[in-house]
Amino acid sequence: MGEYLVRCLGCGYVQPPRALACQNDDSLLRTEYITKRLTLRDDLPGLWKFYDWLPVKEPLRGSGDKPVTYKSKGLARELGLENLYVSFSGYWPERGAKMTTCSFKDLEAPPTVERMIERGDDQILVVASAGNTARAFAQAASAANLPLILVVPPTGLDRLWICEKPADNICVISVNGDYTESIDLAGRLAANPRFVGEGGARNVARRDGMGIVMLDGVLSMKALPKHYFQAIGSGTGGIAAWEASLRLIEDGRFGQHLPKLHLAQNSPCAPIYAAWTGSKMETGRCPAGMYDDVLFNRKPPYGVKGGVKEALEETDGEVYGISNQEARLAQKLFEESEDIDILPAAAVAVAALQKAVRAGTVEKNDLILLNITGGGVSRAKEELDMNLLKCDIETEPSALSSTSTSTSTSDTDLLVEIDEILERRV
Ligand SMILES: [Zn+2]
Repeated sequence: MGEYLVRCLGCGYVQPPRALACQNDDSLLRTEYITKRLTLRDDLPGLWKFYDWLPVKEPLRGSGDKPVTYKSKGLARELGLENLYVSFSGYWPERGAKMTTCSFKDLEAPPTVERMIERGDDQILVVASAGNTARAFAQAASAANLPLILVVPPTGLDRLWICEKPADNICVISVNGDYTESIDLAGRLAANPRFVGEGGARNVARRDGMGIVMLDGVLSMKALPKHYFQAIGSGTGGIAAWEASLRLIEDGRFGQHLPKLHLAQNSPCAPIYAAWTGSKMETGRCPAGMYDDVLFNRKPPYGVKGGVKEALEETDGEVYGISNQEARLAQKLFEESEDIDILPAAAVAVAALQKAVRAGTVEKNDLILLNITGGGVSRAKEELDMNLLKCDIETEPSALSSTSTSTSTSDTDLLVEIDEILERRV
């Protein structure tokens, strides 16, 4: 159970179990589970039911709910679809969905934190996020009492609420710039041997955690869908859905055809849409004005072996550029027809589905899985106690870089400040 190898998709060499990268090349690594047939672990809670296909030795205590998959009636009727299923990652108790951070990032954080603990060293985990991922990691780390540094843009700060009591050993750094600049600063911090980055798309625990959307969907539908819709920033969720589908094909019980990936970005801040369609895109002002800025990532794992481009090619996939107006209308349609609020990013996926229906890319009877990557925030706010994490340190994007000039926080000061915050709390 839970036994696996990690193999480089480029050179094919087996890697150390908790590696994030191959020493020979730039390719993504992928897990190979010894158990080829997925057995749900009903003795374990939430997402740990998928323990057979998660790269951990044991579940992380007190953490990890899973999405629910249900057959849509309301939205399906509006779109004239007979076999539309929704994977809902969020808070919707009537449907059995109790992901209290209301985002499918809840699927990535617990396996990643558990894997971090299993490394058994004293390095402190550094996570960059536009907000939703930080929330999920703050919740998982709080449950595990693991020290954590969160690096977020100022626009992400008001997304940092969790329902757990925040652990004292979480340090929140706000970088005065966009999400990519937060990623860059987190990378420079992680270059310090005392810290370690979680690896983003390169961490198989994150991808296999997100792959649960496909696993849960397929177990509910009893078959691989013909189409899979998701809104993407880095596109890692698309890679995860493809990889989970490959495992389900190998399982043998759910069909032999890869679901077609329909990945949606928010135009005009849509680098993957531009790369895939060969269109030009002016992203200089991004993420300003986006319908949901969590969908913007300047450096997605696109062309790398095992990355988004390959996932699209292998699944005969499509990428959509969705305008704010299209997303707004789609959000209204979903919320009114399904009777639950969703995060703006999820509305971008709904808009892509609408486009595909209009274009005839999906047909009335096709089996479709729509990934609603976040929702139920209004419900959660009504029913749950929420705690907002406070910002501990504000800094400039140039911090810790060779081009760093005099900033409000000098580089040494930044490290000292982080130390003080973590030490005071540990
Ligand atoms: Zn390699």
